[in-house]
Amino acid sequence: MNFADLGLSEDILKAVADAGYDTPTPIQSQAIPSVLMARDILGCAQTGTGKTAGFVLPMLDILHHGRARMRMPRSIILEPTRELATQVAANFDTYGKYMSLSKALIIGGESFVEQQKILEKGADVIIATPGRLIDTFERGKLLLSDCKLLVIDEADRMLDMGFIPDIEKIVNMLPKQRQTLFFSATMPKEIRRLADKFLSNPKEITVSPPSTMATTVEHKLLVMDEMDKREALRKLVRQEDVKNAFVFCNRKKDVDILFKSLTKHGFNAGRMHGDLVQSERTETLDKFKTGEITLLICSDVAARGIDVADVSHVFNFDVPFNAEDYVHRTGRTGRAGRAGKAFMLAVPEDGKLVAAINKSINMDIPLTELEGIETLELDFTGKKRRVKKSRKAPQRDASPRNDRPARSNNRNDRAERDSKAANTGANVPAAPEAKQQDARPAQQPRDNTTQRDAKPRNERSNRPERQDRNDRSSGRSASRRDRDDRYDRHDRHDRHDRDDKPVIGFADHVPAFLLTPVPASSLGKPRADEVEKKVPARKTPSKASAEKVTAEKSASEKTGTAKTARAKPTRTRTTRATAKKASPAPEPKDEAAAVSAPAASQTPAPASAQEPASAPVADDAPAKEEKPKAARRPRKKPAPKKAAKTETADAETTGSEG
Ligand code: AMP
Repeated sequence: MNFADLGLSEDILKAVADAGYDTPTPIQSQAIPSVLMARDILGCAQTGTGKTAGFVLPMLDILHHGRARMRMPRSIILEPTRELATQVAANFDTYGKYMSLSKALIIGGESFVEQQKILEKGADVIIATPGRLIDTFERGKLLLSDCKLLVIDEADRMLDMGFIPDIEKIVNMLPKQRQTLFFSATMPKEIRRLADKFLSNPKEITVSPPSTMATTVEHKLLVMDEMDKREALRKLVRQEDVKNAFVFCNRKKDVDILFKSLTKHGFNAGRMHGDLVQSERTETLDKFKTGEITLLICSDVAARGIDVADVSHVFNFDVPFNAEDYVHRTGRTGRAGRAGKAFMLAVPEDGKLVAAINKSINMDIPLTELEGIETLELDFTGKKRRVKKSRKAPQRDASPRNDRPARSNNRNDRAERDSKAANTGANVPAAPEAKQQDARPAQQPRDNTTQRDAKPRNERSNRPERQDRNDRSSGRSASRRDRDDRYDRHDRHDRHDRDDKPVIGFADHVPAFLLTPVPASSLGKPRADEVEKKVPARKTPSKASAEKVTAEKSASEKTGTAKTARAKPTRTRTTRATAKKASPAPEPKDEAAAVSAPAASQTPAPASAQEPASAPVADDAPAKEEKPKAARRPRKKPAPKKAAKTETADAETTGSEG
């Protein structure tokens, strides 16, 4: 069968011939005629099978007969990532170059204004990521009533990325009478449910993954300690004849760390993940395509569909969580029948993941070793290994994993070594380990970066995570935000990343709350500062203080100060203790002494009996506040013992006295 048999128009056939395609791929030969007959398609096909042409070619043919109107696109292609959308848009240009159809690329990270201008002119097809499409629609810049053809590409990827609610929303915005082409690399239950919901009597097409992967790609597996991986990667890149390579990490932050590390070691590297601004992503990808960058460190955002010709190597710096992802990642090399090499760096507890990959690709990835890197064995029990914080001495490495000391011990060992080294100014005796570390930049093994680098293993079991929460919260409201910033699935681990801190047990650690001072008041004893604070707050006098007031009143009446005491009973709030402090003069034994004592010690004078004495003091301090003090003094006289007994209680519980 050739393309001419598929019922495509001349313009398209010409463009296909220009692209150098002679024979349609299986997905193309099955899908194209059905799409041209206006049937829905449920295609189970991966990237690399030629599925893009499988839907773009017939779409061009359909759209050829009609005209786009302002803001009313006639078809939509939904892609999970901006890169894929951009790539499909490029295919649209390639295959439609002899047609005058217009397209709009509506993806996040790009200017709304520019995209809206294109929509204003009218687009035959919109190639979009779900979030930006919804944002544009909600801004009222898009009318979808004329959109009769929908393509949902990489549906399982959409599911992984949490886009399904957005997809459902978009489908609800479209006319019920439409043609839907639905493609997914795999058909899990959820995807099947969606397919049943969105499609009407679809033609089901299943094509096997591109055979090129198994035959032209040489796969290798290395098992080592997490801490050895960066060094191993550098060795591998140096050893291998790497023309250009994708280096895949499971998490965005590891992409950053590895990128920095490789750059520091003089490698020509770039990085790509969902947290980077689109301009940087586009620029990096362009540089990689043109050969300006040799190593592209990336998350799975680049695993699917990114079509870079002639990639010599793929390095899986982390074992992917999903076996399919291994296929997608390694599918970046060995394209179009070319030879390629795929290396995977595993740690022992990746055993189960490696087994799943082996099963999925129907072969056991051959193990290989690297000189200078200790080879470990895969553990298939699924047990989590303690994260190793530093390189272990050879004798420890030789012992079974279970016998190894816990992490806290390692840390102590290392701290001890560090302090020794600092004290002596020389390398510590644990020579092999120290030597290895010396090969690295001075601070590298102990900085936070390295510690973080050692942590991913802990988090691998906590798989699903919604990503780019930060993106969501910042800027415009949630509805206006770039929803498609939720990027690749594995980047969802960022939420766990924030919880990376080691858990401290009770063994050798005193929790902070146990070190918190206990307020004296809670032990039934007053503290001076508490006393001062509490006094004004109290309004109800206690029994003891009531007695004092009574005593004071009677004393005041005798001395003629009662009037003053009544007038301002609560203004001066001095405890007996502070009063003592403030006036160290001996307690007066009679009224005259009680009145004169404050004057002698420059405390405010009483108001009535000793007017002349108090007058000069009143200039400096408000007389109203000071008067009650003088009134208080005599109260000891009638009940000195009781007052002494209740002193503490007064200070703690009452504040009614001046
Ligand atoms: P896709 O699966 O759509 O990402 O396509 C994978 C690669 O196959 C792309 O580089 C296409 O240019 C190429 N391709 C698509 N159809 C054909 C074909 N019929 N013959 C040869 N190459 C093709």
